[in-house]
Amino acid sequence: MGPENTVTNIAIRSSYDSISDIIGERARDMVFKEAGLQRVLESPPDYTWDKNFTNDEQVTLYTETVNLVGAVGAQGILRLIGYRNSETSVMKFGILDSIKDLPQQERILKAFEFLQVAINKGRVIAGNNGLPAFDVFDCLMCVDVTSRKPYCSQYAGALQFLTDWVFTKGVYLVRETKCRAMGDDTCLFEIEKRG
Ligand SMILES: [Zn+2]
Repeated sequence: MGPENTVTNIAIRSSYDSISDIIGERARDMVFKEAGLQRVLESPPDYTWDKNFTNDEQVTLYTETVNLVGAVGAQGILRLIGYRNSETSVMKFGILDSIKDLPQQERILKAFEFLQVAINKGRVIAGNNGLPAFDVFDCLMCVDVTSRKPYCSQYAGALQFLTDWVFTKGVYLVRETKCRAMGDDTCLFEIEKRG
């Protein structure tokens, strides 16, 4: 039995769109090929909640992006890809329309929960400022990686868009405050008030 398909079309299709926007179509094709996702290039999935991909396939898109652009600068690109993934899913394809009128505190919690379902990673926990935090205890991105800086920036970017969507831009910063690549026990993303 192969690994289970637990990752949604939304997650893979939004990566397909963002990666082409940010590093170009040629680089996108290389990344998807190296990740063993030739079938996505041939027929990109629609923005639906169907689960047609594995966790390994999803994370390989990011590790191949790092391989392609090099470690230096990769985190900025990953953050941008993550941000764009959420932005396109929400703004263009309306995946969070059902919660858009909720009060902010409820909406941010629900938005984080939707992300958890879309990417089949992490869990939503209570942060220390009354806002949710995102705990990627099962991060595959930084397995076998050692880094002095946080390494899993695509999650920070995805959460940053959701936070901007709820509270408007410029109010909060999403930061990876723990990363297993830095020797921590988990990869933790927290919402902080901008200074
Ligand atoms: Zn990580």
